[in-house]
Amino acid sequence: MEQETPQQDEQLNEIKKNLATVRANIDAACEKAGREPSSVRLLPVTKTVSAERLRIAHAAGCLEMGENKIQEAREKSEVLSDLGIKWSVIGHLQTNKAKYLARFANEFQALDSLKVAAELDKRLQNEGRALDVFVQVNSSDEASKFGLPPEEVCDFVKQLPNYSSLRIKGLMTLAIFSTDHDRVRECFVKMRNIQEMLRQEAPDGLSFDELSMGMSGDYELAIAEGATVVRVGQAIFGKRPLPDSHYWPGVG
Ligand SMILES: *Cc1c(COP(=O)(O)O)cnc(C)c1O
Repeated sequence: MEQETPQQDEQLNEIKKNLATVRANIDAACEKAGREPSSVRLLPVTKTVSAERLRIAHAAGCLEMGENKIQEAREKSEVLSDLGIKWSVIGHLQTNKAKYLARFANEFQALDSLKVAAELDKRLQNEGRALDVFVQVNSSDEASKFGLPPEEVCDFVKQLPNYSSLRIKGLMTLAIFSTDHDRVRECFVKMRNIQEMLRQEAPDGLSFDELSMGMSGDYELAIAEGATVVRVGQAIFGKRPLPDSHYWPGVG
């Protein structure tokens, strides 16, 4: 950025400091679990953070950003198109919005329907591009959460080779919102077991090496159970103005 104001300078330092703290915690959690720090990717989650602030976040080192709403992601990707940010859509997608995602996103982490897979594939073919995709699993058994029930994942992934523009990378989940660590951990363990099962059962050519799980409140626990991507918002950008129940109806 050119000509930073003192306020921008302060925001830049704040985001840099938070990023460094989160990254240090990730590295420590890896070490504790006997894992390579490079095996965990930090995806900064930028929902509700203004495009102006994201320009500062980019300067602080955020080269990819996760958004849960397609409309918000799309607007930001347009305003910030000069920065070459990699956009990851991490929230539910309606079939009729697939065409937008196919234009700007680098990754989609919330695939849970074949209708969306088919529409995305068609739109990606039109755009002449491919997309990294994670299959979302509802590991907490909460009706308010999107994602496939664990018992449906195997049949679901067997259909995915039909959609050649989708590069299947792995699984994504939101753990239960609970202060009870055992219940949170249970969700992550369930995901690791599904990943193991898919290593045997998934069609040739599909790999499920990535596990996207863990957010500001539980990323260290997720790393202990095998997360390769953690999606962290508030620990980098500060508390969101609205409670989680606003973003995930029925929760919080
Ligand atoms: C908001 C969000 C996150 C990050 O949550 P924080 O509490 O801000 O870390 C992760 N995953 C998804 C799908 C989200 O919508």
